Amino acid sequence: MKEKITFCETCRKDTAYYVKSVEMKNTLKGEEYAYTGKKAFCSECNAESYVAELEDGNLKALYDAYRQENNIISLENILEIPQKYNIGKRPLSLLLNWGEMTFSRYCDGDMPTKQYSDTLQRIYNEPEFYLSILEENKGNLKSLTAYEKSKRSTMALIGQLNTAQSKVDEVIGYLLFQCEDITPLALQKAIYYVQGLYYAFMGTFLFNDDCEAWVHGPVYRDIYNRYSNYRFDPIEGEIDFDVSVLTDSEKAVIDSVIQYFCCYSGKILECFTHSEMPWLKTRGDLPAEAHSNRIISKELISEYFVAVKQKYNMLVPDDIENYAKVMFERTIKC
Ligand SMILES: [Zn+2]
Repeated sequence: MKEKITFCETCRKDTAYYVKSVEMKNTLKGEEYAYTGKKAFCSECNAESYVAELEDGNLKALYDAYRQENNIISLENILEIPQKYNIGKRPLSLLLNWGEMTFSRYCDGDMPTKQYSDTLQRIYNEPEFYLSILEENKGNLKSLTAYEKSKRSTMALIGQLNTAQSKVDEVIGYLLFQCEDITPLALQKAIYYVQGLYYAFMGTFLFNDDCEAWVHGPVYRDIYNRYSNYRFDPIEGEIDFDVSVLTDSEKAVIDSVIQYFCCYSGKILECFTHSEMPWLKTRGDLPAEAHSNRIISKELISEYFVAVKQKYNMLVPDDIENYAKVMFERTIKC
C-alpha cells in the first residue's frame, strides 16, 4: 500500500503521516458539540499535520452531532428520499414550494432549518404524506411524466409496506397464541428480539415497523397504543392463530425467542435491552427518565444482532440460548 504523504510544518517537508481517532469538541451555531473525529500526525516528528480530507470528515462528524442533538434529519435520509420516491432533486423542491435548488443544497450537506427538516423527515418516514404532497402540488412539476413515475413508485412502496406491516401482526398473533401471561412490556421486548434475531439469521428484516428508545427499552409505538389498557397485566383475548401464515424460518426464530426470552418477565427483558448497544446508543446521554421518541435505527439493530450471532457462534436460531443466559446472569448481578 502506498504511504500517505502530507506537508509537515515542523519538518518543513512532505512526510508520511498516521491517523488517530480523537474525541473533539466544537461550537456550531453557538452551542458546543462533542464528536469523534480524526487527526493526522507526522510519522517522523509526531507533530499534528493538516490533511484536507480528514478536516472534511471532521466537519461532517460535527454536523452529524448537531443534527442528532437538534433532531435534524440525517444527510443519509435526505439522500435516500429521491431514490425512495423516484423523484429528482429539483422537482422535489418544486413540489414543496421551495426554491428550485433548496433540496439540492441539502443533498450537498447544507443544514436544513428545523421546519424544513421536519417536513423532510416526515416525507422520509411516511410515503402517504409524500403522496399527498405529490397529488396536491403536481401542477408545480414541469413534466407529467415525472409525476406519474413518482406516483407509481410511491404506490408500490406503500403496497409493500402494507404487506410487510401485517407481518408484525402475525408475529404478535403467534406470540400471544404460544405464551400465556405475556404483558405488553414483555411483548414489546419479544417483538424486538424477533426482529433482531431474524435479521441476524436471514439478513433481512421481518417487518418494517421501527421501535423507539423509550425509558423502559425499545417500544413499537402503535403496538404500545394497541395494548396500553392492559398496563402491567397479561394480554388476554383472541388466542386462535393460523400458524400456516408463518414460514418455517420465521417460526424457528419466534419459537427461540419464546423459549429463551419469554420465560423472563418484561422487567427483566427491559434490563437486557438496557445493556444492549442499540438502545444505549440511541438514547446517547439522555437522562434515565427522559422521554424520547428517537427511533432505534434498523442499522443499529442489524449491526448488533449480527455481532451477537458471531460472538456466540450461533448456527441456528435455537443457539440464542447462551446469549439469553449470559444476559440473565448479568442482570441478576447488577
Ligand atoms: Zn514532521
